[in-house]
Amino acid sequence: MSSEIYRDMILDYYRHPRNYGSIEDAEIKVQESNPLCGDDIELYIKFDEEKNVKDIKFKGRGCAISVASASLMTELLKGKKLDDLLSFSKKDLLEALGIETLGLNPVRIKCALLPYKALKIGVYSHIGKKLSEEEKHILDYESESQQD
Ligand code: ZN
Repeated sequence: MSSEIYRDMILDYYRHPRNYGSIEDAEIKVQESNPLCGDDIELYIKFDEEKNVKDIKFKGRGCAISVASASLMTELLKGKKLDDLLSFSKKDLLEALGIETLGLNPVRIKCALLPYKALKIGVYSHIGKKLSEEEKHILDYESESQQD
């Protein structure tokens, strides 16, 4: 797809966010912010008996990239298994957003990865597991997160 298509898609997800709102009895509730841009997101996930994502919603304020990324991510993950949430990668999200095609700078990439950060923190604490070194890397806003 061309960068124009991705740009239009991001604006559409920003203006008409999918899965926007909160879930009262969510098993996972995470609030994260990106101090570099002022983005703020709350992520809610509810599982069914088989540990599939029954519902996933987000709330928050932020730039077009962060909101579009959160919105798109909830769409990608709805109905997925807990294991899929664990294996869901930065690359999966950035590719879906067309980040490479758009040629965004590292600051904007942090915006795009804010929902991912919330997801990983939420899911890992839900299963009582620690983040791997690789996962920790993106939680560190001081460092670059481009070496995949
Ligand atoms: Zn932002």
